[in-house]
Amino acid sequence: MVYRGSGGPPPSQVHASGGSGLYGGQKPFGFGIYEVLEGNKKKKVSLFRVNAGEKNVPFVFLDEALPKEKAAPAVRVHDGFKFNGKFGNTVICVGHRPEGCPMDKALERKHKCFPNCKQPCPRVGNRELSRGSWRWVATGIKMQPFTYNVGPKKGETWEYQRCLLLVPDAQYEDFMAYREQFEGQGGLRGKMFKVQRGSLPTSSKIGTSWRPAGSMTDEEMMDKFESSAAFYGMPVEQYIRPYDYEKLLKEYTKPEMADAAKWVAAEYGVSLEASGEETVSAVVGSDEAEDDAATEVPF
Ligand SMILES: [Zn+2]
Ligand SMILES: [Zn+2]
Repeated sequence: MVYRGSGGPPPSQVHASGGSGLYGGQKPFGFGIYEVLEGNKKKKVSLFRVNAGEKNVPFVFLDEALPKEKAAPAVRVHDGFKFNGKFGNTVICVGHRPEGCPMDKALERKHKCFPNCKQPCPRVGNRELSRGSWRWVATGIKMQPFTYNVGPKKGETWEYQRCLLLVPDAQYEDFMAYREQFEGQGGLRGKMFKVQRGSLPTSSKIGTSWRPAGSMTDEEMMDKFESSAAFYGMPVEQYIRPYDYEKLLKEYTKPEMADAAKWVAAEYGVSLEASGEETVSAVVGSDEAEDDAATEVPF
């Protein structure tokens, strides 16, 4: 078949590239973290979020005690960027690879001053790479019903949502303190918290205040979450286990990442070919100035 015009083949002739999560030439609907259920069914993983000003959101941890080496799992992500008209897109950052992370460039933005910027700030006016941000990773259940208002599940309610908790580095100390506090009691697993978020839209999306609020045994969790597990499409025994982080947080391959970055760059009007040398040097050592609030709108 001969395709006419540039950039062919036409979308109707392009088929999903099988398993990669990307779409071989078709614009992706969005980017997220997925887990694979029985029967090879892919499910988008919910990220734990609290609305600005919200109070008393109950959350129960599913992670076991800290691993021996005392390091909680962590990942570097582009967390919550806007794509295809929606916030909440997430891609694992591959900035540690020798070729760098194409998404850093695709999501580049004009410098917005952080509270710790010097006045006047020499970076004003620069277009800077948007580095992924480090997040500490945990699994839990948000015990607050969620009703779908779009999509095939419109009108249905998911009562207790298993979700991934991505803790900003700035809040690590708080969570470590709780881990230590509960270590003698089998770790955080089954520990419940009431989560509250400050009213500022720039406040942490996972809430700014976590207060211990009791605990649940495995048996109690099995009972309480059974119907939600069925709603999700998973046996409850698995539903109350932490995600398999190794699988869940798998990075895109180089071609997958190039494809993803291409779509994001196109939407933001960024050229991935343009020399990024000056912008690279502009952000060296900026990790302490990292501030997600600058680009992310809470939802
Ligand atoms: Zn990146
Ligand atoms: Zn600044």
